[in-house]
Amino acid sequence: MLWVEDRRENDFALSALVQLQKCPLCGSGDIRTLYPSYDFRVSRAWFDICSCRSCGYVFTNPRPPEEDAAAFYHTGYYAYQPQKPVSPVAPPAPERGAGPGERILDIGCGSGGWLLGQRRPGRELYGVEISAQAVEAARGQGLDVRLGTLEAARFPDGFFDLVRLNHVLEHVYDPRRTLLEIRRILKDDGRCEFEIPNFQSFESARYKGAWNALDVPRHISHFTAPVLERLIRECGLRLRAMHFVWFPAGIAQAAGYLRHEFTTWRRLCLEMRANRSFPGRAFVPVAAGGRLAAGFAVYWWRRLTGKAKPPERHAIAVTLGKSS
Ligand SMILES: [Zn+2]
Repeated sequence: MLWVEDRRENDFALSALVQLQKCPLCGSGDIRTLYPSYDFRVSRAWFDICSCRSCGYVFTNPRPPEEDAAAFYHTGYYAYQPQKPVSPVAPPAPERGAGPGERILDIGCGSGGWLLGQRRPGRELYGVEISAQAVEAARGQGLDVRLGTLEAARFPDGFFDLVRLNHVLEHVYDPRRTLLEIRRILKDDGRCEFEIPNFQSFESARYKGAWNALDVPRHISHFTAPVLERLIRECGLRLRAMHFVWFPAGIAQAAGYLRHEFTTWRRLCLEMRANRSFPGRAFVPVAAGGRLAAGFAVYWWRRLTGKAKPPERHAIAVTLGKSS
């Protein structure tokens, strides 16, 4: 499931949006706007995608105040839906070396789908999540999930063998603070694993403000591999592995993805027609539809013929350790 349209339960204030004049990562005032992007899922507002000329960090501007962030999340957000308990006959979730006696934390665990698949005798599982609704669903499955941010959970020093935050770092307000906190709570030989959208991907470069994975204003950061690598190093973490991941993973998922991307474009075009004047604006949807179709054709051609280089894939996946 991707998204369900339902704005009734969201109570957000566009007047409270915070306009940044400086790069939130390095503090430089030398920032520029790349292009606008539109939130058709919740707020129906435009946000700029800005980049810092000094450090290369790309971010959403303006952004909701941190304390109101949850109001901009859809109540139908996929990760917040109740998860089915793992059936005993189902194969175990893929593991990347998690041992039986390990202590595992899933940051931004939603309603606990991934954690449920990690249940083994002797293993301690923890979650952190900002959605009260999702926390309730996860606790209903017997999971130990803390409501709020990672920092607020105040885990002890050197506590975890594995910290996972899948597609979460792009949502946090201060990624440096989050990575430093992860370093603090990791055991010396512990590891941290996550995946994030790749701002240098083919789709990002091609679709710009209409790229699905921008997901403004829920995504605060739009990482490239070089910016991410530098930040990891600055936070005293060691990059053990980095690879680039396709999405959708195969042809089977592609139809759903195309439909979703088309919906984004259609909504974006309708908004553009309503809010902004274009010469010959009746052609905007036609032109946009054509651009989408052409982009998709090129994407699949490059992918299936092996011409696409790994750094243009959809997402970046990393495994981190603690540097000594
Ligand atoms: Zn900067």
